Amino acid sequence: MSEDYYELLGVQRDASEEQIKKAFRKRARELHPDVSDDPDAEERFKELAAAYEALSNPESRARYDQFGEEGLKGTGQPDFADFGSFQDLFDAFFGAGGDPFSGFQRAATPAGGEDQAAEVNIDFLESARGTTREIEVELIGPCEECDATGAAPGAELATCTVCEGAGEVEQVRRTMLGQVMRRTVCPQCQGQGEVPSERCATCLGRGRHARIETVEIEIPAGIDHGQRIAMRGRGHAGGPGAPPGDLYVHVAVASDDRFVRDGLDIISTAQITAFDAMRGTTIEVPTVEGELEVELEPGTQSHHEVVLRGKGFPAINQRGRGNQRVIVEVMIPKIEGSDAKAALGALESSIDERAYGGDAGLLGRLKQAFR
Ligand SMILES: [Zn+2]
Ligand SMILES: [Zn+2]
Repeated sequence: MSEDYYELLGVQRDASEEQIKKAFRKRARELHPDVSDDPDAEERFKELAAAYEALSNPESRARYDQFGEEGLKGTGQPDFADFGSFQDLFDAFFGAGGDPFSGFQRAATPAGGEDQAAEVNIDFLESARGTTREIEVELIGPCEECDATGAAPGAELATCTVCEGAGEVEQVRRTMLGQVMRRTVCPQCQGQGEVPSERCATCLGRGRHARIETVEIEIPAGIDHGQRIAMRGRGHAGGPGAPPGDLYVHVAVASDDRFVRDGLDIISTAQITAFDAMRGTTIEVPTVEGELEVELEPGTQSHHEVVLRGKGFPAINQRGRGNQRVIVEVMIPKIEGSDAKAALGALESSIDERAYGGDAGLLGRLKQAFR
């Protein structure tokens, strides 16, 4: 235990009590034996617990700051070796059943499975059309070997000697929060009241263990970047007889050069020359359903907006669909040379002043848009 306590917890030396507590809970979760595949997890948890014990108490923290670990010797701190097994450590901090994912106060029922999170990356078109993805998720699942009973093949069930069949026990624990007495799920039988005469070798009697599972995710059309899909009951398996947790899949949508999302609408731009703008033209517009021909009237102005109804994103779990808004950009050429200037002059003088009318201008269009 030579590592610095602050480094162990991953906090600054001036961290508040709250920050230290949060950091400890976070690190403790990472070292959970069901989750961590670090063979030293137990040892590291003990170090972590010692660090937290020292830094969560202002007095011992001050001593540690001044003298280091030497300053903590012979101060009546609980010796973590007294807690016995790793499971006992978890029980002391998190309640019987050893589950640091849950709160300190547990109800006397078998632990339900914990939630798991995953992420999936899709492109813009997939977010508009919907798609399915298979992702690999680390999940604690029911043990196939023992059918989640925790019993070795052929083992017989006997009344639990710890709780005498009640499924729960009263415990008085010295914890870093002081003495706590409570009824908790029996750690021996996990609330079942019975234990097998021999434990399953694969899951060590837990009835579940961690493995990588392939999960198929239906991603609905209209999903937006940063949204998450909740898959009920697809998280970690619970203890015997308890429900599984949920799987939350965060969706990341890659940007697309052609489109920008605005709520349910899609915005794109179309560049045309000043000549096409004057005489009118037909353009090919990319949409999430493929190219679409759009006619532009003679005299199309720059920033003119073409609305393609229903070509935006569908609303998820609702009716309705957004539009695609195509903003026209008119490219004005730079005219050089006397011939071109003369031709332009001739063109200009041939145009009637009324040909410029009928447009409210940019401010007018803005007013229209914000009405
Ligand atoms: Zn098993
Ligand atoms: Zn029991």
